[in-house]
Amino acid sequence: MKLSKWPEALPREGNQQFKKMKSISQWFEIYQINQETYAILEPNHSEEVFSFLVLGKNKGALIDTGMGIGNIFDEVKQLTQLPILVINTHTHFDHTGDNFRFKEIGCFDHEYELNNLAQGHANQFCKDFMSPQDYFDLPKNFDPKKYHIKPSCVTHQFKHLDQVDLGDRSLIIHHTPGHSPGSICIEDTKYHILFTGDTYYAGNIFIDLPGSNQQDFFKSIQYLNTIIENIDFLCPSHNIVYASKEVLISLKTAQEKIENQEVQSKVHSQSITYYFDEFTLRLPSR
Ligand SMILES: [Zn+2]
Repeated sequence: MKLSKWPEALPREGNQQFKKMKSISQWFEIYQINQETYAILEPNHSEEVFSFLVLGKNKGALIDTGMGIGNIFDEVKQLTQLPILVINTHTHFDHTGDNFRFKEIGCFDHEYELNNLAQGHANQFCKDFMSPQDYFDLPKNFDPKKYHIKPSCVTHQFKHLDQVDLGDRSLIIHHTPGHSPGSICIEDTKYHILFTGDTYYAGNIFIDLPGSNQQDFFKSIQYLNTIIENIDFLCPSHNIVYASKEVLISLKTAQEKIENQEVQSKVHSQSITYYFDEFTLRLPSR
């Protein structure tokens, strides 16, 4: 795995190929992917999470809402006047933090994801991600000791292959369980971007969490390879905003390499990490 360590690696070279836009809060960095697509990064937390603003003629989609440490709503309002539909790639805390600031919220129609949004994430859980070595330069009004994710109200429950029409631009919802049971990848039919959520990013990909499923993950990878012709590149949700679509092929061959024990690995108490060139996979130990 070649991804160098946070925070020394900031700003990451892979993000700097895009034009940096003005942000209101220093908590966020905004990159312009194209005229109608923005990536909103939270570089000051070790999660290095991205949310994406995807604009159509009539409506905007906000793909995830980040950690809920800064105010992403204000950043979005600065970029567009369009009504916004939030689409969660999945409902882990680091992608749903500012959901509560928005009226329209959609996620995949799966009990696990719906429960996460209905309940939010308690401080008991979230505090583990707020050790002093996990962040720097927090916004002044934010108290890391009280960090939690507020509940949010789902207005749209997506099924596999549902389309979201933004007016001259539509998004296709692809159900890709594995990281979580209702994880989705979102295909942009205008610019041929695939927003992969946590199904793929350059870094340590976790398939050993509560709700994760290794078999589902590899099935989802096989599935994504069947739509690879529709895609020009990937926008993952952590670390580096751009990935070549060929990593979908690398993910497919990763499974064979793991089965044939042709890959370097490290055993932990409940899981095994497998090391590949662009990513690592953390799978549950059998
Ligand atoms: Zn996640």
